[in-house]
Parts: sequence; structure tokens; C-alpha cells
Amino acid sequence: MTIAMEAAVPPCAHQPELFEEVAAVAADSSTALAPARELIAVARRSCAGCPMLVDCLYRAVVEVDVSGFVACTTEADRAAIRESLGIEVTQSTLAPFGSARLGGGPVSHEAVVAARQAHPNDTCQQLAERLGCSTSTVKRHLRRAREAADEAQLAEPVQRRIPSVEEVLDAFDALEAGQVA
Ligand code: SF4
Repeated sequence: MTIAMEAAVPPCAHQPELFEEVAAVAADSSTALAPARELIAVARRSCAGCPMLVDCLYRAVVEVDVSGFVACTTEADRAAIRESLGIEVTQSTLAPFGSARLGGGPVSHEAVVAARQAHPNDTCQQLAERLGCSTSTVKRHLRRAREAADEAQLAEPVQRRIPSVEEVLDAFDALEAGQVA
């Protein structure tokens, strides 16, 4: 029973120090040095024997821009694979939208837009009173929001291309072949 559970644990979980060290040397410009290359080769061999390699590689290339050494690849390797596939990984933002105004600084664009959404029937003057700013500031931000909405409407809808597992593996193989050559 214990043996079956341990077999499901990937090598990176068994050797976290190795993968951290590899991530550090891979981010260093001196990866051409023999000790760094040997360290990366050791981690590559660990990933190569991992039953999760294909899934791990696909997720790290296509779905999440993780940092460090993952699935036989450095961050630079994955960036090169994405470039060859013509894809980008969209980063989610954690920036709060329409957060409350803090302190006495200038009112933010997001705060004005959020106030308009929360109070659609308010006049600009009423919004300005709520936000503690001038009416012209509110008008300026609302005009900017309208212009941005117009531009977004005119822009072509961008379809995000989702590569297949085979395409990712082919791009990975091509990268490996180029590094060996
Ligand atoms: S392929 Fe992914 S899950 Fe497996 S050892 Fe490498 S980094 Fe860990």
C-alpha cells in the first residue's frame, strides 16, 4: 500500500531542493557552465522518467505560466515553445477593480467607473460628491471609459489558439533537437 502511494509522487516532490537549485541556475546567465548544465541534465532525467511528464509539460506551456524548472524545461525553454506554437499564456490579474478610494489622493479611473456602475442614475455632480472630486474629473474619466468601450467594440475578437498535446510535444522535441545539435 505504501509503495503504491509513493509511486504516484513525482520526482520533483521527492527532490524539491534539486528543482529549486536548477531553477536558480537556469535563470542565471552562466547556464553554459558545465556544473550548471550537469545539474539541469539531472533534473531533466528525473522529469523524463516521470509518469506525469506529458500532462505537466502541456499545462506549463499552454495553461499556466509557472516559474522554475518544470517538465524538462526551463522558463526560457517554455517561452521558446510558446513562440514556436504562436501562443501566449494569458496572465490573470489580481488587481482589485473599483476598489474604494483611500486617503486624499486623486480619484482613480476605476473608482469613477465603479461609482457609475453602482449609481447609473446619478448626475456627474452627484458622482463627484460621492467620490469627493470635481465634476470635470468625473466627466473626464467617464469619457475615457466610453472611448475605451468604443475601441473594444471596433477591435476584432481575438480567438485564443489552443494547441493539441501532439503539437506541444512536437515543439518540445524540436527544441530538444535544436539544443542537442
Ligand atoms: S514532469 Fe512535472 S511533475 Fe514530473 S517531475 Fe518533472 S516537474 Fe515534476
